[in-house]
Amino acid sequence: MIKVYLKKKIAPRIANGHPWIYGNEIDRVAGEPAAGDLVEVRYADGKFAGIGYINPKSQIQIRLLTRRPETVDENFFHRRIQAAWNYRKKIGYTENCRLVFGEADEMPALIIDKFNDYFVLQTLSLGMDKWKQAIVNALNEIFSPKGIYERNDVPVRTLEGLEQQKGFLSAPFDTNIIIRENDLQFHVDLENGQKTGYFLDQQDNRRAIQHIVKDAEVLGAFTYTGTFEIHAAHYGAKSVLGIDISEQAVAQANKNALLNRLENIVHFEAMNAFDVLKDWGREGRQYDVVMLDPPAFTKSRESIGKAVTGYKEINLRGMKLLRNGGFLVSSSCTNLVSPDLFLETIYMAAKDARKKIRQVTFNAQAADHPVIWGMDNTNYLKFLIVEVTDK
Ligand code: SAH
Repeated sequence: MIKVYLKKKIAPRIANGHPWIYGNEIDRVAGEPAAGDLVEVRYADGKFAGIGYINPKSQIQIRLLTRRPETVDENFFHRRIQAAWNYRKKIGYTENCRLVFGEADEMPALIIDKFNDYFVLQTLSLGMDKWKQAIVNALNEIFSPKGIYERNDVPVRTLEGLEQQKGFLSAPFDTNIIIRENDLQFHVDLENGQKTGYFLDQQDNRRAIQHIVKDAEVLGAFTYTGTFEIHAAHYGAKSVLGIDISEQAVAQANKNALLNRLENIVHFEAMNAFDVLKDWGREGRQYDVVMLDPPAFTKSRESIGKAVTGYKEINLRGMKLLRNGGFLVSSSCTNLVSPDLFLETIYMAAKDARKKIRQVTFNAQAADHPVIWGMDNTNYLKFLIVEVTDK
């Protein structure tokens, strides 16, 4: 294995366990590794640092797979995936779960979602992509799944020089499946749904609205396939309206309402949330609960300011649509906006809307997406419920 020596002054980050090594942290490479090859990483004094895969095309040149001098082979991936599964079982996430959450499971750039007997996989870096077959073999050995699907149709792959692609990694199967969550059922389109088809990261947070929606008139924006809204109906809301800009998502959401026999309480429409929140506020519409779960408004540090403006805008509008004493349920799914910055943004929105807020709940993502302290990208979801009263 080719050896890579780090500079003397490297960020303590690496010594403290962070798996990413940037180009400017490398002193020299003793050889010419091909993109995606495994390399042995050593500190400047020659001490062993770990084994990872390298990609000179990527800004993150090396991602470490292990800190021990062990053999990285097919069996290694089997052990790691088994360990990830054992962990999910221990913490109580078995039927549907994020089985592998990349760096947090010591498998950088690998995402695997388990939807009962089906698995959806993303290999987001070249070094991980090379092990795709080994990963599929491990899934077959551990789970005997009904199907495995690849959702590598994601733009970040181009940063690694990889193609965007999707398709079967098992015998073909019907990619429209049904999953259960919190006593409800949801259609999931593994082939054409967003990301891996379904947002498992909010599975616990969907339960957190249980009491505040009772007998309420609820508006949910950025609904996708209607999960929060259908939960609201199930938990006793009087009426629920969910909106999303995607016609496809809205069609699936209405199908989900029918599947749960809640179509008399909840319905969905395709609209732009930015327009609707503004217009309906002007018209004086009022709700008891407003729920917002927008997409990541930024993917880069340069546009954090713009993202904050977006979050402030929709939350301010959302608060204005609330009756006195109503609840705002607000999420943000990008790690670039830190929990502190998110709360500060909500605070500013409340100030501008002339509302007083009281925190009910503040959570991150479900525990099957573990947060590793010191790895900011693992702590990405903010889920907030506040009571909103007039000043
Ligand atoms: N709450 C959902 C996830 C929402 S993902 C769940 O728990 O499953 C964000 C959604 O916002 C996507 O479905 C996307 O189509 C939608 N979206 C993006 N921009 C929008 C806009 N301007 N107006 C309404 N919806 C929008």
